[in-house]
Amino acid sequence: MDESDCQVTREASEGLLIIDCAALVHNYRVLRRRLRAGSRCGAVVKADAYGLGVARVVPALYAAGCRDFFVATLAEGEAVRPLLPEDARIVLLTGVRPGFEHACAESGLVPVLVTTAQLQSWVEATARDGVAAPCALKLDSGMTRLGMEPAEFRQLLQQPSLLQSANVQLFLSHLACADDPHHLQNSQQLQRFSDACVALRKVCPQVETSFANSSGIYLGEPYHFDVARPGAALYGVNPTPDQPNPMRAVVRLRLPVLQVRQVERDCAVGYGATQQARAGSWLAVVRGGYADGVLRTQSGRGRGAAVIGGATSEPEQRVVVPMIGRVSMDSCVFDISALSEQQRGRLQAIELLNDELTVDHMGAAAGTIGYEILTSLGHRYGRCYL
Ligand SMILES: *Cc1c(COP(=O)(O)O)cnc(C)c1O
Repeated sequence: MDESDCQVTREASEGLLIIDCAALVHNYRVLRRRLRAGSRCGAVVKADAYGLGVARVVPALYAAGCRDFFVATLAEGEAVRPLLPEDARIVLLTGVRPGFEHACAESGLVPVLVTTAQLQSWVEATARDGVAAPCALKLDSGMTRLGMEPAEFRQLLQQPSLLQSANVQLFLSHLACADDPHHLQNSQQLQRFSDACVALRKVCPQVETSFANSSGIYLGEPYHFDVARPGAALYGVNPTPDQPNPMRAVVRLRLPVLQVRQVERDCAVGYGATQQARAGSWLAVVRGGYADGVLRTQSGRGRGAAVIGGATSEPEQRVVVPMIGRVSMDSCVFDISALSEQQRGRLQAIELLNDELTVDHMGAAAGTIGYEILTSLGHRYGRCYL
């Protein structure tokens, strides 16, 4: 990544989140190449593109050839619609609340419906000449989250006229355990969804099918169906957690050092006095805390990369340093005793995320997953898109 284009704004002086759109597009292409012939690669851009900003992420993916976008809510769909030409489809993964069907159809958004009653309301609210606006239907194939009950689906198949007038264009289901290729539930869900696709196609021959999230793409071709729905992997999360990450890192988080100090005697660091710094240790207090997405659960377990130099013609150096004490709301502390005196003098910032310290690493340190690291990234620092 090259940060020389990043402006030094007032916001950036409070920390800088660098988002590498070239890496994003690279990741999209890696996923697309992985799909079987005839299967399209969509993109999940819910929650503001997992926190990275739809305004830049969505046009970059469209330019890379993506035409199927998935968001969570009506408001997200309305925000994404103006960013895309007509030929792109935007699907609302959590459907539409009663009374908002018309608004949804007017904005050209495709809701995911999960009950027969929702299909009926959709027809009532949006049908013209007996055909409703396009919608999607989701089956629960075993995750037991959002999706039609299999028994209700079997009954629905007995009402072909409802299915046809509802204008179901996309049929989907979601895998619960795709990141564990050995989990038995994957093939069970695949079997149920495949059978349902065969049954539905008898009534709606044109319907397209969608099953795989990021990790689902790596379960192999039977999981690919017509449209894949990767999210996390686009943004650098490893879709194959027990193997090397085939994705490139997309985010780099660089936080300014507010204070460098050497402690005189053994002393406790931060709220709750949970960790001790030894006499003579060097500490760096960094501007970035849990209000900025530095999760408090990684207190004392996180790592950062001290960024040294860079002002001169020499390349920057990075030394990995441990966090010490609890993360506060606006700051956290690193033990930089491993740096030489000269390195300390030229210390510029501490990076919490980069190519080596990934969202997956930070997630593990915080007892969560890379997804939550991404969606927690705060709004108090500057953002720079490469
Ligand atoms: C969030 C989501 C996805 C994307 O999953 P990733 O694991 O981020 O690739 C796909 N489908 C549905 C229904 C989702 O909710």
